[in-house]
Amino acid sequence: MEIFYRDKNIEQIDRRSLEELQYKQLIYTLGFALRTPFYKTRLAQSGIYSPADIKSLKDLKKIPFTTKDDLRECYTQGLLSTSIDNVVRIHTSSGTTGVPTVIYHTQEDLNNWTDLVARSITACGVTKKDVFQNMMTYGMFTGGLGLHYGAERIGILVIPTSSGNTKRQLQIMKDFKTTVVHATPSYMFHMYSKLNEYGFKLEDLHLKKAFVGAEPYSENSRKKIEEIFNIDVYNSYGLSEMNGPGVAFECVYKNGMHIWEDSYIVEVIDPKTEEPVKEGAEGELVLTTLKREATPILRYRTRDLALIYKDSCPCERTHRRLSRITGRTDDMLIVNGVNVFPSQIEQVIMEIPEVGNNYMINLSKQGAMDKLTVKVEIYSKLFHGDISELEHLKAKIKDNLRASIIINPNVELHEPGSLPVFELKAKRVEDERPKL
Ligand code: AMP
Ligand code: ZN
Repeated sequence: MEIFYRDKNIEQIDRRSLEELQYKQLIYTLGFALRTPFYKTRLAQSGIYSPADIKSLKDLKKIPFTTKDDLRECYTQGLLSTSIDNVVRIHTSSGTTGVPTVIYHTQEDLNNWTDLVARSITACGVTKKDVFQNMMTYGMFTGGLGLHYGAERIGILVIPTSSGNTKRQLQIMKDFKTTVVHATPSYMFHMYSKLNEYGFKLEDLHLKKAFVGAEPYSENSRKKIEEIFNIDVYNSYGLSEMNGPGVAFECVYKNGMHIWEDSYIVEVIDPKTEEPVKEGAEGELVLTTLKREATPILRYRTRDLALIYKDSCPCERTHRRLSRITGRTDDMLIVNGVNVFPSQIEQVIMEIPEVGNNYMINLSKQGAMDKLTVKVEIYSKLFHGDISELEHLKAKIKDNLRASIIINPNVELHEPGSLPVFELKAKRVEDERPKL
C-alpha cells in the first residue's frame, strides 16, 4: 500500500521527542491561557500563576478540567487571550440550544489548523490530482471552512458546495468528476438513496474516497457506505472547541484515527472518578490544545467516549490512534434502569442486510415503564413480499437488539424515505418520556 506523508519528521517523530515537544508547547499554551480572564482565575485557584509552575508533562494533572459549561460562561470574551484586533475569525459549536461556545482564531491559529487538515487528508492518500467536493456546511460550523482551507493547502481543486441540495451535489459530482467528498454518514446514505430518483447512475460518478465524520457511525455503516458507492471511507474526528476537523484522522490503513499529538494532548479518563483509565481502556477523551493562541483550552472534557489503540500502525506514524467514538457521556439513555447508547443500536441494526439507511429511536412511557421503539427503514422490495417475511425480519431485529442492549425493544419497520432525513447532524433519538 502506498503511504503518503505531508510532514514525515513530525508524523514519525519518536515518542520521547514528541513528549519534549508537547511539554514545550504546553508551556507556550499556558502563557496564552494565563492572559485570559477565565484561566487567570481558574489556574490561580489551583496554585498555578505562571507557566513555570508546571514543571513536566506529569504536572498536567494539576491543571483543572475545562467543561462546555465553563466555555458557555465565558461567552463572549472570557477565553480570549489577546486583543480582538489580532483575531481574524471566530467559530462556534454546532449546538442549536443555549449559548454557543466561541473559539477565536489568530492568523497563526488558522495556519496551524490548516496544516493539520492538510496533513490529515494527505494521510488518506488524497493528492492535488484529486477533485474535492466539500458537502459540509460552510459558516460557523467548522466542517466547511476547516476542510476547505486544508484541502487548498495541498493544491487540490476544491468545490465548496456546502451542504444540502442533493440533486445539485450529484450534478456537480458528475460534471466536475469529483473524486473525494466530505460528508456526514447519514448524508452519504441519503445521497445514495436519491441517485436514481434524480436521474443519475453510479457509473456517472468518479468518486473514490470520502471523509466521513461529525457524528457517530459504526464500522458496519462504514462498510455499507464503501460498498454502495464502491469507495474508501475515512473516519474524521474533531470538535469546534479543538478547532474542528483535523484533530484525529484515519490513514490509508483505516484502522483508527491518528490523533495529532504535536497539537493536542489526549487523556482518557473515567468520567466518574476523573482518573486516567488503564492503557487501552475506554473512557472520556480529555484534550488540551498545544498550538492555539487566541483561545487556548486546557484539559477539555469532550464527553466523547473512545479508547486509544495500544498497537502501532503499519504506516509508521507515531501519533497514537483513536477508536471510533462509541458514545457520549451525555447521550447515554437510561431505559428501565439499563444504560443504552444509540451507537449500540445502530451497530446491531446495520449488521442486518435487509435494513436500509435510516432509523430512529423513540422513548415513551407504557404505564410506569419505559418503552423503547426502534423504527427502521427497510428496502422497499420487502414491503411487496410475503407478510410473514416482514414478521420474521421484525423478530430477528428484536432478538438481535435484545441480545446487545439487554432490554426488549419494540421494532417498527418503515418504507424507505419515510423517516426524517437530516442533512447536517442526525438527531435520531426522540425522548417523549416526561421528566421524573
Ligand atoms: P462540533 O463541535 O459541533 O463539531 O461537534 C463535535 C462533536 O461531534 C464531537 O464532540 C463528537 O461528539 C461528534 N463527532 C465529531 N466527529 C465524529 C466522528 N468521526 N465520530 C463520532 N462522533 C463525532
Ligand atoms: Zn496509520
